[in-house]
Amino acid sequence: MSEIIDEKIEGLFQAVVKRNPGEVEFHQAVREVLESLGPVLVKYPEFGEHKIIERICEPERQIIFRVPWQDDRGQVQINRGFRVQVNSVLGPYKGGLRFHPSVYLGIIKFLGFEQTFKNALTGMPIGGGKGGSDFDPKGKSDSEIMRFCQSFMTELYQHLGEYTDVPAGDIGVGAREIGYLFGQYKRITNRYESGVLTGKGLDWGGARARKEATGYGAVFFLNEMLRVRGQSLAGKTCIVSGAGNVAIYAIEKLQQLGGKVVACSDSNGLIHDKKGLDLALIKQLKEVERRRIEDYVFHRKHARYVAKGNLWEIPCEVALPCATQNELNGKDAAKLIKNGCLAVAEGANMPTTPEGVRAFLKAGIAFGPGKAANAGGVATSALEMQQNASRDAWDFEFTEKKLSAIMTGIHQRCYETAEEFGTPGNYVNGANIAGFIKVAKAMVALGLI
Ligand code: GLU
Repeated sequence: MSEIIDEKIEGLFQAVVKRNPGEVEFHQAVREVLESLGPVLVKYPEFGEHKIIERICEPERQIIFRVPWQDDRGQVQINRGFRVQVNSVLGPYKGGLRFHPSVYLGIIKFLGFEQTFKNALTGMPIGGGKGGSDFDPKGKSDSEIMRFCQSFMTELYQHLGEYTDVPAGDIGVGAREIGYLFGQYKRITNRYESGVLTGKGLDWGGARARKEATGYGAVFFLNEMLRVRGQSLAGKTCIVSGAGNVAIYAIEKLQQLGGKVVACSDSNGLIHDKKGLDLALIKQLKEVERRRIEDYVFHRKHARYVAKGNLWEIPCEVALPCATQNELNGKDAAKLIKNGCLAVAEGANMPTTPEGVRAFLKAGIAFGPGKAANAGGVATSALEMQQNASRDAWDFEFTEKKLSAIMTGIHQRCYETAEEFGTPGNYVNGANIAGFIKVAKAMVALGLI
């Protein structure tokens, strides 16, 4: 029986590859989920009859558009904009916007696919989608960013709405960009529709703890993985890749829970500070001055900066990849394991390659996949939507408590599902299966749509 199912799943995967040529990240994300689903199709034959996998792998709608804008020299620039609305059986499409030169359809589709299961895992009423552009915000002035965002929204607004599709930030999109996007949406529609975007500034409809949520959430998840193994973060040496929003607040929570974070990175290089990272300095450099991480060593002379260095070679007990997809490969995983790493939680989306994931699972270390571990960001976006809908604003402590409870819930769902389907401790299977079943059941219930 299971061999027939495995063959069937392989066939479905090959069909996805054929239908979506060249979109390697999308193929990777689909393969990873499909590999967990054999036992699910045995338990729920109706998912096969209703062609749930075939339908889930085909986004409900894909929008690709031209984004023309003028730079500060008056030159016309053209970028490409995307919004892929993957699945809306659990709620309005929900997922961030990524502005980065590497963006193309395959990246947005992989992110939207992951987002669908991640959002389902949160237990909140949100569907899955993702968008963005190949626009590179690096080195652009505030006015250039504003003009780009205005042009982007001038096309995108017609596809959005608090009950339709609710974007937020991702790489290259923070409160500044969300502000320009929201301003343009408001102007075009003549509606103050707070719930149409999340990650807003606190003065105009944003939620407390949203900025911190993805990083904090990843550490809450990590903490749960350690707890069930009878361990804790206290005194553990940690490394975190990235120096953006996710990394910064992962470092903050690790430090609050007693971890010693000795390294982080950006796309140019890494910093290694054996005394423990000075987070206030990192925040000043990254959030206020928008500088590169290299400048850290001008202020902390004993720390070292390694241009193009490999972060994963730094010995640690806990590693959090919080930068971008496929940043940690099989060799890196082997190095981490050899150096005594006990736990990895993914703050970024799909940062570990399939070889890396296999190595972690084989070594039996605690491995929290992004779908589960980084779901705190989007979960807190759903809390922002709740506050917008009720015209309320909760305080930080209350919101953080909710986030913590949500992450504990996600951990438990993954843990129990992994056990139920015969792979105890395998959070990859737990997350894929629990997220998939939730979406699949709703798809069956809502009929052929
Ligand atoms: N971009 C984030 C993610 O990958 C957050 C999405 C959201 O808040 O809608 O989950």
